[in-house]
Amino acid sequence: MPCAEDGCDRPACVELHIPWDENRRVCAAHARVLGRQDGIVADPDPDGADELLDDG
Ligand SMILES: [Zn+2]
Repeated sequence: MPCAEDGCDRPACVELHIPWDENRRVCAAHARVLGRQDGIVADPDPDGADELLDDG
């Protein structure tokens, strides 16, 4: 599954829990950016945990 962010085709490896919106799965880079917002919890996807170590 690709990252949910527009224009991003990296593989999604993190699930973001967003209190005011549906959960979405994004790549590690987007998870880092979006995860800084208050209330958002970044939850590494067990299936893609290795991707977190690949920082590009
Ligand atoms: Zn992305």
